[in-house]
Amino acid sequence: MKIGVLALQGAFLEHEAMLRRLGVQTRQVRLPRDLEGLDGLIIPGGESTSIGYLAERRGLLEPLREFALSGRPVWGTCAGMILLAREIVDGIPGQPVLGLMDITVRRNAFGRQVNSFETDLEVPTLGDPPFPAVFIRAPVIERVGPEVEVLARLEEGSPVAVRQGNLLATAFHPELTTDARFHRYFLGLGR
Ligand code: GLN
Repeated sequence: MKIGVLALQGAFLEHEAMLRRLGVQTRQVRLPRDLEGLDGLIIPGGESTSIGYLAERRGLLEPLREFALSGRPVWGTCAGMILLAREIVDGIPGQPVLGLMDITVRRNAFGRQVNSFETDLEVPTLGDPPFPAVFIRAPVIERVGPEVEVLARLEEGSPVAVRQGNLLATAFHPELTTDARFHRYFLGLGR
């Protein structure tokens, strides 16, 4: 199995390290041809505007959409979740996105970098114990479409982990923990 990690900006090395720990081969994706032969793809956290503009400049937007539509698992963490969303609140007007998941996300929903936090999140699909979720200038999901399964919510009710078929999105950063359960779950999402 070989999983690509979009390596334009942000926390791609940490995702690669976690995947390798699980015995999975990885490849850094910077150009459309890097997608060839991959079994799945992770879009890391970072800055969704930077990742979007770089992807656009390298002609990656359409190849990334096609990759996701082929049914192979694609996972966006934090900024990656923003790129996957169909609708963005508080985005930069015209920021390039993939627009693949039927969700509305609000960027920087918890405020600035200093308002980053960690919380124990109940994720029924992963079972016990709760998942140590690290939120860094994170978005929240404000609306989910009928095809979208909510995997986890904050205590106040906002969804922060969702799945739509082969697509997974988390507002937090599992690659910054030592808990590999989300990565393992992701590897099983293909159809
Ligand atoms: N605030 C960033 C954005 O809007 C996301 C932060 C992150 O990925 N940790 O793109």
